[in-house]
Parts: sequence; structure tokens; C-alpha cells
Amino acid sequence: MADIIQLLPDSVANQIAAGEVIQRPASVVKELVENAIDAGAIQIKVNIKDAGRTLIQIIDNGCGMSDTDARMAFERHATSKIRTANDIFAIRTMGFRGEALASIAAIAEVELRTKEHDQDLGTFIHISGSNVITQEPVRCDNGTNFQIKNLFFNVPARRKFLKSNPAELKHIINEIQRIALANPDISISLHHNGSAIYELSSTNKRVRIVSMFGKNINQSLIPLDTDTSVVKISGFIGQPKHAKKLFGEQFFFVNKRYMKHPFFHKAIMQCYEKILPPASFPSYFIYFEINPAEIDVNIHPTKTEVKFENESAIWQILQASVREALGKFNIVPSIDFDQAGSVDIPMPLRDFSDVSMPEIKINPSYNPFDAPTPSRNYSGTGSSFSSKPVERPNAANWQSLYKGLEPNFDSSPEKQEDEPIQFRIEEQQTTKSSVQFKNKYILTPVKSGLMVIDQKRAHERILFERLMQVLENHEVASQQQLFPETFELNASDATLLTSILPDLHALGFDIRDFGKNSFIVNGTPGVLNTSSPIEIIESLLEEYKNSPVNLQEKARETVAISLAQASAIPYGQALKSNEISELIDNLFACQTPNFTPKGKKILSIMPLDDFEKLLK
Ligand code: ADP
Ligand code: MG
Repeated sequence: MADIIQLLPDSVANQIAAGEVIQRPASVVKELVENAIDAGAIQIKVNIKDAGRTLIQIIDNGCGMSDTDARMAFERHATSKIRTANDIFAIRTMGFRGEALASIAAIAEVELRTKEHDQDLGTFIHISGSNVITQEPVRCDNGTNFQIKNLFFNVPARRKFLKSNPAELKHIINEIQRIALANPDISISLHHNGSAIYELSSTNKRVRIVSMFGKNINQSLIPLDTDTSVVKISGFIGQPKHAKKLFGEQFFFVNKRYMKHPFFHKAIMQCYEKILPPASFPSYFIYFEINPAEIDVNIHPTKTEVKFENESAIWQILQASVREALGKFNIVPSIDFDQAGSVDIPMPLRDFSDVSMPEIKINPSYNPFDAPTPSRNYSGTGSSFSSKPVERPNAANWQSLYKGLEPNFDSSPEKQEDEPIQFRIEEQQTTKSSVQFKNKYILTPVKSGLMVIDQKRAHERILFERLMQVLENHEVASQQQLFPETFELNASDATLLTSILPDLHALGFDIRDFGKNSFIVNGTPGVLNTSSPIEIIESLLEEYKNSPVNLQEKARETVAISLAQASAIPYGQALKSNEISELIDNLFACQTPNFTPKGKKILSIMPLDDFEKLLK
């Protein structure tokens, strides 16, 4: 047979390689801004049009390139940053793989103007899909000016893969956020379609954080400072009382490079154990400085994963450093450093007066099937099971509603395995003999055994169906706030919130853009009856971000799901017996009581037989 193996042409190889480095417009922004930093720039301007689809422009005042280098820079594996493989172990620059420019040039139109400081003329290069169209001398400023146009023009599959403009813009903002936090000494601006998102001047870490996340964060920041022979740790952690429902103010940097590190994240969360409000995240901005020989950043082309040689030692140092900082600021009354990793932190100074003690008393005279009770507000959660009385099914309805019910939900792995559970509720021992267990479950006797209901999931289902009803019937009922509250988000969350504002309006939220990433809440959905709208909006954004449902097609539903999740009674909340029965009644008045809108199981029955077997 004839030989069939051929070397791929460079343009094809580059296009394939681009798939790894350049996934979306934000990847281009990251690579080019990192190049500017490596070029010693102290001022970087980023201009974006249409979330990077039409234009990404990066202007820096770094060292610039000679005309030969400017041409060479687009070759694969062309780099000025390392010469030998060993150099990787002493790397202090952001780049070193020499892939970015070759990849970008393979999938876009690139115009480069660059000039070294000691030259009179610079050089202009126009490249399209790896082909050099022109190169000529040009008058331009010192430094480098890249314009990337028509990204993915020759990779339709990639282009189709891109999300909506707000989503892509959010990725870009996130990249700039990371780079700007890692390099507070560099002035950096970001403009989108002509309007400024960031205009940050050279400063220190604290001021940079405050200028990006709003002045409220300033009072929350506790400084960290630990210098050991293994690692130097600096930066800030947030006070527990300022912890947010929204994830997104957690940053690790190593040698000025942003990194993701779930293991160190866990180390920090352990230090905050028991001193945080439920389901909230403390902010942190932690900067590690370490000998580059002791880390490996070359695990993935995007270099956000970093491997530490001395991971467990750094874990200990990090925890000691965080605990010391919390201790110094009197967040934790006493700390015992000898019990590293397992310090049992006494109850915090935080005011938990709004959380009532668990109680599982049963009111024997209570009949849940009496006339509808007025709605209640669950202290602490700001949400209530009902604001509008729901038709209360009697026990017989309850059963028939439930029997043979075909759950209708998407993306549930449990869906297939789960047969509809058949049971008969006993007339006399219905919801009133239900009890709460571990402030998380509700146990209800049924004919065939014991039904276990997940309280948070149940409430999610109830709220979701009510919200969907609001959407379907266009019966927006907004509860006006007596004192409208304003709140500020970071730029990326603000973009996200702006993109879902119309859906939130349809659900009854009256939120207006107040300029500069702040918003004002004038009203909240009647169905939620909430007293802490900002907390709910923060959790809602968090849930929405983590939502797997296809956002483009089912945006409204996703918002409703996220809102239901954000407002549902949390685990750990004690319920009174009438609240328990109301929850059960409302759950079984739902169309799909078995599963949450995201397809998680709400309830299960432990058969009587199992009890008997247990005690054999
Ligand atoms: P890497 O950053 O890994 O070296 P790139 O493909 O990103 O690879 O860049 C290739 C080379 O082009 C760099 O090593 C650098 O010499 C040069 N270069 C890229 N961007 C700039 C810039 N903004 N200013 C000066 N030189 C640059
Ligand atoms: Mg680079």
C-alpha cells in the first residue's frame, strides 16, 4: 500500500492547536493582555466590540517588537521567553509556550502595529487565517497595538459554540478582573462598545480590590501576611459577616498568575467553618509568591491549573495564616494552632438571634385540613411558603394527585431508575404527625412505611410552580418595598443581572439599573413574600451561573428555577409543626411533587418491611 501519512501544513496545525488555547473571545483577551504584561507594559487598554466577535483591541506601552520579531511572533513555538526546557523551571513570565499568537492568527484577522522605544518607525502586519497579507513600516506609538477582527471567521463550529454577547462579555470581564487583581501596579482599562467597564489606575492591592468590587468591601478586608522559606502569602480575606451568597470574590494568585485551586479553597473554607452564615462564601484575594522551580504551571495550555511540589506544607501555612488573620481581628475568640486542620472554632460573635432553636414538638390539636391559614414569614430566610392561599387538597386528593404521577423534568439521572412510588396515606395520621429531623428532612408516616421529604427541595418545587404560574398567566404581582434598597455588584455579575432583568421583571421583581454596576430594588415578587431581596438576588445569580439548563432557550424557566432555589427555606432551619404541615400540603398540591425542577428527588419512602428487617 502507498504511504499515506503526511505532515499537516502549519496553517492547519495552528488551527487545531488554537482549539486548546483560544476557546472564546475572552481567551484572546487573556493571551494578549498577558503578552503586554510580559512586554513590561505599565498601561494596557482593552477595547471590545460585540463581546469580541467583531473586534478585540489591546494597546500596550511595553517594549514593542522589531520588524523581524513582529513577523516571527506568529510562528508556532516562537517565543522570546525561554530558550531551553530548563528555563520553564525559572519562569516568571505569563507566557512561554509560543502558541498564542500563532493560534490567534490561524482563526482571525490580525492587525499588529508595534514599535520599539528607540526606533522612529514601527511595523504594521496584517495576517488573515495564518497568511501574511501585508507587512510595512508605519508611524505608531511606542509599544504594541493588536486588533483582532472576525474571530473564528474560518471555524464556523467554534463560532456557533459561542454564547450570547452578555455571556461572552462576562468571560472577558472575568479575565480582566483576574489580571487586574494580579497586577495592581499596572493601569488597565476595559471598554465595551465605547463605554467604560473598568478604568483602573496604578495602585496597591487594597485600592485595586476596592475599585473593582465597590467601596463596601473595604471595611471587610482583613490583611494576610506570612513569610516562610517555602512560600510568602499576602493579600486579604473577607470578614465572615460580609460573606456573600454569591460566589465570585475568591481569587488565588501565584507569582502574579491567577490560578484555580479547589484544594486550597477547601483549606480556607475550613477556617471559616461555623462562623459563616449558611450557604455563603467569604471573599478572599490571596497572593502566593514561591520559587518558580517549585510549581508547575504547564499542566494545561491556559495555565490556570498550578501544581505545587509542597502542597501539604502550603496548605498548613495557608490555614495558619488565615486563622491568625481571623483571630487578630477578633472574629474567632480563641484559636489553638497546635490542632492544625481541626481547630474546633467556638461559636462566633455573629448575631444569630434570628435563628430559632430547632423544635420538633407536635401540636396534637392542629388539623391541617381546616380553613386556610394566613401566610407566614419564615424568620431568617425572608421567604414564605405562601402569600396567596393555595387550594388545600384533602387527604384523598393528596393521594390521587401523587399516585402514578409521571414526573416531567429534564436532565435527571434519577429519572429512569425511579418508578413512581405508590403509597396510601392514612387518614388519621397525615401531616400532623409529621416531624422535622435534623432540621433538614420531614418524616411523615404513610401506610407503607415512613416518607422522608427533603425540606429545601420541597420548597423549591412549590416556589417554582408558583413562579411558573406567574409567568404563564402574566399575573405579575410585585410587592413594593417600603424602603427601596440599592446594591452594587462586580462588573461581571452586573452584566449577568442586566441580561436577566426582563425575566426578573416578568416574575415580579422591580429592579432598575442605577448606573456604575449598582441597582435599586423597588419591588419583589408577591409569591416570594421576601424581606431580604438583595440576599435572594445574590443567591439567584449564583444558582443561575451554575445552572446546566440551556440558558438561551429556556432563560425564563432557568431564572424561575434559580429564584426558587435561592428563596427556598434552607437546611438547618427549624420549622414549626404548622409550617411542616403547610409545606407538605403545598408540596402535594404541586403538579410534580416528587422532583425538584432540576430533577432531584424530593421524597422517598422507607418501607415498613425494612424497619422490621432492621430490628430482626
Ligand atoms: P509566548 O507569550 O508564550 O512567548 P505568544 O505567541 O503569546 O507566545 O507570543 C510570541 C512572542 O511575541 C512573545 O514571546 C513576545 O516576544 C512577542 N510578543 C507578543 N506580544 C507582544 C507584545 N504585546 N509586546 C512585545 N512583544 C510581544
Ligand atoms: Mg503569550
